[in-house]
Amino acid sequence: MNVDLHCHSTASDGALAPAALVRRAAERGVDVLALTDHDQLDGLAEAHEAAHAVGIGLVDGVEISVTWRGQSVHVLGLRVDRRHPGLVAALAALRGGRLERAQRMASALTAAGIRDSLEGALGYAVNPASVGRLHFARHLVASGVVADAKAAFRHYLVPGKPGYVAHQWAALTDAVRWIRVAGGQAVLAHPGRYALSAGALHDLLGQFRVAGGEGIEVNAGSHSTDQRSRFASLALHYGLAASRGSDFHAPGEGAELGGPPALGPRSRPLWQHWAL
Ligand code: AMP
Ligand code: MN
Ligand code: MN
Ligand code: MN
Repeated sequence: MNVDLHCHSTASDGALAPAALVRRAAERGVDVLALTDHDQLDGLAEAHEAAHAVGIGLVDGVEISVTWRGQSVHVLGLRVDRRHPGLVAALAALRGGRLERAQRMASALTAAGIRDSLEGALGYAVNPASVGRLHFARHLVASGVVADAKAAFRHYLVPGKPGYVAHQWAALTDAVRWIRVAGGQAVLAHPGRYALSAGALHDLLGQFRVAGGEGIEVNAGSHSTDQRSRFASLALHYGLAASRGSDFHAPGEGAELGGPPALGPRSRPLWQHWAL
């Protein structure tokens, strides 16, 4: 069973519309896919139609942006009720800050000599309310400032670089609560990507667990073999289930749909008791 519980569509910063994304997943052998757009549930209706048509399972998901100790951390909400008024309202409020943040990013880039980046980034954002750093990265690549998206982040879009601006996302406890109230399960996304000391990571996992978090992404598209093994151990240590997700955004950009290795025998899959 190929279960991929993390990917993005044009409803956030993915390059494929939800239906095209689902068809690609089916072609790649994915049996169950969760669409997890950033702070956004709008792609799910179209994804469901497509999943029904191609005969794969579609899990309603979201990836919530959180600020924890000044850092961005992502929490996946899986099997949420996509019509839950509390969750819908909380995500709308969270997204509300994105356009203003993008304006600050563009001003910062202008000061660094790169003009008109807001217009450029918005050209890649199907939904302007979901505009984010990857849209800026795509614009910087297309306008020849950098060779690829990775370089755009490295040189312009991460803390300490000219196009980075601080932003306050949701509190960890709020994100987990919104997910749980909407009937979903909270999973800490790609823990290997956070620049946290071992001590801080333990604090994060402990707080996540206490808040009601149920799983961590062990086999994430961005994790190395060592990280998969390390997070499998940490999941066991904290009594958290393990998840698997590609975090696919676009063909040829990072991990492919259904790509990460299957979970190892030590891991308790998040979906163990799901009716699949
Ligand atoms: P935002 O939510 O606007 O802060 O954008 C975060 C998104 O940027 C992530 O979900 C990734 O899609 C992308 N991203 C972050 N860091 C990198 C990186 N180093 N290389 C490529 N994409 C990245
Ligand atoms: Mn993204
Ligand atoms: Mn993420
Ligand atoms: Mn993601």
